[in-house]
Amino acid sequence: MNLEQALNRYFQFPSFKPGQKETIQSILAGRHAIAMLPTGTGKSLCYQLPGYMLDGPVLIVSPLLSLMQDQVEQLKGRGEKRVVALNSFLTPIEKRNALSSLQNYKFIFISPEMLGTRLVINKLKSLRISLIAIDEAHCISQWGYDFRPDYLKLGEVRQVLGNPATLALTATATEEVRKDIARLLKLDSWDEHVLSVDRPEISMSVEILGQQEKLQRAFELVSNLQGPGIIYFSSRKMAEHVAAFLRDKGEQAMAYHGGLDQESRILIQQQFLNGQFNVVCATSAFGMGINKGDIRYVIHYHLSLQLESYLQEIGRAGRDGNKSLAVLLYAPGDEQLSYQLAEAELPESAQVGRLFALIREKCFEPDDVEENAEFLSASCGFSETQWRIVANFLKSLRQEPAERLKEQIERFAEKRLLI
Ligand code: ADP
Ligand code: MG
Repeated sequence: MNLEQALNRYFQFPSFKPGQKETIQSILAGRHAIAMLPTGTGKSLCYQLPGYMLDGPVLIVSPLLSLMQDQVEQLKGRGEKRVVALNSFLTPIEKRNALSSLQNYKFIFISPEMLGTRLVINKLKSLRISLIAIDEAHCISQWGYDFRPDYLKLGEVRQVLGNPATLALTATATEEVRKDIARLLKLDSWDEHVLSVDRPEISMSVEILGQQEKLQRAFELVSNLQGPGIIYFSSRKMAEHVAAFLRDKGEQAMAYHGGLDQESRILIQQQFLNGQFNVVCATSAFGMGINKGDIRYVIHYHLSLQLESYLQEIGRAGRDGNKSLAVLLYAPGDEQLSYQLAEAELPESAQVGRLFALIREKCFEPDDVEENAEFLSASCGFSETQWRIVANFLKSLRQEPAERLKEQIERFAEKRLLI
């Protein structure tokens, strides 16, 4: 059976999309690969098809619960029953059951956090994993836009699991980020399959207007444009405000941001996917891995913090290949706003100084820091976001050998300046 026949047999697709076949060939030849393919190309297939052709199970590391859930449902929708998701959504009993029957599954989705636990690793070790796929792999890199220290363990985990073929998937990663991905995954050699991110079906435009005119313009666009759309904001409050405004005007709009609890987020996402409302007013928390083909427009009410995020966000339009629109509403001075928002989320150096002083004073070991998180955070006046950044940083230090500490701290400091 050649690859086309396998594609046809397992997925009933007549042909591969660009980049898929080459990527799958690398994996089947037992080589590691980093595949950078545009959003909507079918990156999931690059681990799903080898999954059917290789003996052991595929482990898929996925950065977001919503993304994981989307993929699990997609597989189940095609009648694949051997799918399981290990994440913090499981109750302890569900987790125990899933772990004790793990050998029955072909596709095991897992969050990086869950992958860090001994129990899980030991179980996985006994399974002879045939392929590890890392979805949205730019999240691994500290130079990407989502700093997730649990990803730092992935290289080690890969080795503990016997260095199975590893596939890093992303739609946006600079060369620097791709190198960083390989370094963190501890790949000694790998194939790269990099395709242009150009999406000719998306027309891009920028409208320069006053801050006060944006609301009216957003309403005009939403009422004139067809089909589902996303409006991106860099502020949760504005996302809520504009969604309410649009609803008042008779549009079906909902707000989505990281401040909502997890269940509401999943619910809103599902309703949007099912076409139960038309416009989602969202922060960057929305959309990674969203598999909705008919999004006709993406409006940016504010600038994205990074150009790569902007590409990723507008790339959610027009996945079905039909004409779509990306509109940036720009008011002179907006770049200051993005800068201020980014700054506001970072811990201040005085706070960090106080934290380290406290840790020294109390002679806290790393475990004690976690134990006393609430006390430390309150004593230093960190906001929730600030504490998360600091705690993540401290956690990442624990996995680094002492000689790397200095470098890590410098990178942390540098990253602050870069944002
Ligand atoms: P990505 O992760 O690259 O954004 P997905 O893996 O979510 O994209 O796939 C997007 C859509 O493309 C899915 O509905 C999938 O079934 C479809 N698809 C994948 N490969 C093919 C193919 N070779 N031919 C037709 N459709 C495909
Ligand atoms: Mg994807």
